Amino acid sequence: MRARLVAGNWKMHGNLAANDRLLEAVKAGAGGAPGVEIAVCVPFPYLAQASAALRGSGVAWGAQTLSEHDSGAHTGEVAGPMLRDFGCKYVLVGHSERRTLYGERDAQVAAKFVAAGRAGLVPILCVGETLEQREGGATEDTVARQLRAVLDAAGAAALRDAVVAYEPVWAIGTGRTATPEQAQDVHAFIRGLVEGHDRELAANLVILYGGSVKAANAKELFAKPDVDGGLIGGASLVAADFLAICAAAAKGKA
Ligand code: PEP
Repeated sequence: MRARLVAGNWKMHGNLAANDRLLEAVKAGAGGAPGVEIAVCVPFPYLAQASAALRGSGVAWGAQTLSEHDSGAHTGEVAGPMLRDFGCKYVLVGHSERRTLYGERDAQVAAKFVAAGRAGLVPILCVGETLEQREGGATEDTVARQLRAVLDAAGAAALRDAVVAYEPVWAIGTGRTATPEQAQDVHAFIRGLVEGHDRELAANLVILYGGSVKAANAKELFAKPDVDGGLIGGASLVAADFLAICAAAAKGKA
């Protein structure tokens, strides 16, 4: 059976005091989601705090982006080896907010994916269509283009140590969630694309759904055969909500 993962994306939220409470509560409640790996992707300044709070707990931590370069004159950027220094396991790559607000194109996202692998991090590659693309019937083309950029740059084998997150842009932070059927269709499409390269790899690839996942809709989404967990934004900031979503991933499949 494929691994199950629920990763929180804190985005640009938090402060030392609030993070302490959230990290302690997540750590304390993680046992309620047996068989589910739990991770939190925190803002860079709080990596040391996450590492101090979570080390040895079984809850993993990571960052929300990284530079495609390993070091050098790149003011304001953070490199993969620096994230490893802080014990990160995961790093988000190509989140739609990075693509739309900070102009990250497919080629740069692919370079960041490769940089994550070089540093020994597990990239969580985010792909997904805008509302306009969905309504124009371009969902599969969009996701395929985003995935192909990475396959071309990194090679299919690099997906062995990676996670894919399908995040329809129209569902992120909007309160509008893809139906379980819509999510399943795209997840199956992604797995099918990877299957064209390597069947075994595709069968083991962890594909998360992200986009307004809440405790109330998580179970139905996670029950779909190709949905292996979630990437959780807003609901990851409230320990009880996040833990309920993690527990739903545990119960999501028979
Ligand atoms: C995200 O930021 O990746 C996300 C899915 O956000 P939300 O859960 O708030 O829609």
